[in-house]
Amino acid sequence: MMNKNESSRRKFVKRSTAGIGALAFSRFGGISKGSPVSGLFPNKVEKILHIMCVGAHPGDPEFGCGGTLARYSDAGHHVSVLYLTRGEAGDPSKSYEESASLRTREAETACKLLNVKPLFAGQIDANTELNKVRIDDMVRLIQSEKPDILFTHWPLDTHPDHQVAGLLAFNAWARSGEQFQLYYYEVNTGSETMDFEPPDYVDISGVREKKKSAMFAHKTQNPEEIYADFFKTMEEFRGLQSGVKAAEGFIHFKVKGERATLSGLQS
Ligand SMILES: [Zn+2]
Repeated sequence: MMNKNESSRRKFVKRSTAGIGALAFSRFGGISKGSPVSGLFPNKVEKILHIMCVGAHPGDPEFGCGGTLARYSDAGHHVSVLYLTRGEAGDPSKSYEESASLRTREAETACKLLNVKPLFAGQIDANTELNKVRIDDMVRLIQSEKPDILFTHWPLDTHPDHQVAGLLAFNAWARSGEQFQLYYYEVNTGSETMDFEPPDYVDISGVREKKKSAMFAHKTQNPEEIYADFFKTMEEFRGLQSGVKAAEGFIHFKVKGERATLSGLQS
């Protein structure tokens, strides 16, 4: 009889093969190493993938990987966005209820523009928690979506809510027996995300305007300023690094079997 580890390892191998296959095939418009290929999203999708993105606040998923989410959605894949909080603490002149309601509406508008499904995890902005109960919640929410690929915050980030979101997603991935691909995205690099050197890029040149409309739906967040100060430059810089006009960078959290084999070392 298989022990628990063996069983989850086998399940993982099965699931990850599908995920890696989908990522590796450029016709799916997957994530490429170093040099993304543009314009290869088909009209006909051979396998519908479930893509999920976890962000701490309304706007984080859209700014961090809205272009990639738009491309998956445009290609006919199922995309959902899970917001850990509703941005309750964003404006000291407003009550938590008022801010939550405004920012929920903004998130819903942004998701509509990207054609993705919004979900809310019910934590509170600026007071997010990483503990057993919250991990159980995150596991349940993520498992209910059965993602093939999950995007989340890189946990080395000056914002504690971003750290929590990234670590909750990591815990859900580990708890699932690593049944889906885990990718980290960046936000406000240099100010929030730190030490992020992505090896994986997605060409977003063709969906830049769509991404921008989703970012700019977050009217309470001064999106013009955030875009000019960070994301315009980030998209173009990641584009330069990968040989296209604009790109989003990712770090794929690699499982043991995918780690590099170094010459001269046997294991
Ligand atoms: Zn945030």
